[in-house]
Amino acid sequence: MKYYSTNGKAPLATLQKAVVKGLAEDKGLYMPQRINPLPESFFDTIQDLSFQEIALQVATCFFGEDVEPDALRRIVYDTLSFDVPMVKVTDNIYSLELFHGPTLAFKDVGARFMARLLQYFIKDLQDHKEVNVLVATSGDTGSAVANGFLGVEGVHVYVLYPKGKVSPIQECQFTTLGRNITAIEVDGVFDDCQALVKSAFMDDELNGHMLLTSANSINVARFLPQSFYYFWAYAQLKKQGLSDNVVACVPSGNFGNICSALFGKRMGLPIHRFIAANNANDVFFNYLKTGEYNPKASIQTIANAMDVGAPSNFARIYDLYGKDHAAICADISGATYTDEQIAQTMCECLQETGYQLDPHGACGYRALQEGLREGEAGFFLETAHPAKFKQVVDDICGTDIEIPARLQAFMKGTKQSVPMSKDFADFKAYLMSR
Ligand SMILES: *Cc1c(COP(=O)(O)O)cnc(C)c1O
Repeated sequence: MKYYSTNGKAPLATLQKAVVKGLAEDKGLYMPQRINPLPESFFDTIQDLSFQEIALQVATCFFGEDVEPDALRRIVYDTLSFDVPMVKVTDNIYSLELFHGPTLAFKDVGARFMARLLQYFIKDLQDHKEVNVLVATSGDTGSAVANGFLGVEGVHVYVLYPKGKVSPIQECQFTTLGRNITAIEVDGVFDDCQALVKSAFMDDELNGHMLLTSANSINVARFLPQSFYYFWAYAQLKKQGLSDNVVACVPSGNFGNICSALFGKRMGLPIHRFIAANNANDVFFNYLKTGEYNPKASIQTIANAMDVGAPSNFARIYDLYGKDHAAICADISGATYTDEQIAQTMCECLQETGYQLDPHGACGYRALQEGLREGEAGFFLETAHPAKFKQVVDDICGTDIEIPARLQAFMKGTKQSVPMSKDFADFKAYLMSR
């Protein structure tokens, strides 16, 4: 299968190239040329399959032509080494808990899959011994990518993060790992980290010295595997007799997660409709309302992993629907919430149902509460464990939530990082010396 660029000005790429390069030459996002549908018989018995069995069938539709069956099976099974329970919160609202992975957020799925697929592809690259992944993080992406790639042979990861601007829990998830993970503490803000990474990709001398790639959600190997759990979610609801009129609600920032769900629908997944739940960053919400896409600077909120003012996967959704605003609105509706509303939702949900939401999941829960119509049942994605935002959650809910053991384990490690200025010359000199 070949991949084309959403900007339409780059040559078609193989899966290998799309995964190793990340972004197309014309700065567009790669899209698969075909979306293979799954047979109806798959959906007839989906409720009897395990998560891994479901995921392997979906993965084969996307990657089956380009990855050996045995290898793909191993990649899928290794990636999904943790549970994704569907928990009933109210009569018609369910929570798909995607926080049982190593870093307690849904990004573990995509990051673990990408690490393994990249490893598979670089075995064929003769001229380079090692691939170097550069990732800038404001907190969550760095930990998922670092842990996804930990111990993966042939890959070295550099996580750039802004000094003093990530929470201590987040910081320890990528600074204590060692091995093939190097944390770089940049004396600046997140935008400086991102600028250093971008400059590195554009520097010819550096790219001649080492093979560089990126691991953010623009990479097809990170974003497509996220479709797996929508099929799994549907199967769990079908088991409960709720296969008609299912609504999926996705707390969204860069829109990679919901975009993978829309790919699932194209493959035949019988989810009725989707809701994109936003915090105060309402660019997509406004697009649905007006048909105009006006990216703007991001606003800081308590659901900070969704603080995105120019969602990069908008280009994919736009392309998938042939730039047709009415078609997009037919499948997706939107919601936007202030920090106050998010806090209120967390408190009310805890009091009324006993379920502890994190600030991101709270947007999803509330959008379902307000948006479900007669006869519909819905699930929202609980995208992170509330303990990742312990301070905020405890302050709002008056709780003292327990920190899961695997999160505590990170906090016991020794922090190791390389101090760096925000000057590209320093960062380049450092990489040239490696
Ligand atoms: C990244 C993230 C999101 C947003 O996902 P997108 O794919 O960028 O829309 C939501 N919640 C949490 C906890 C995240 O880490």
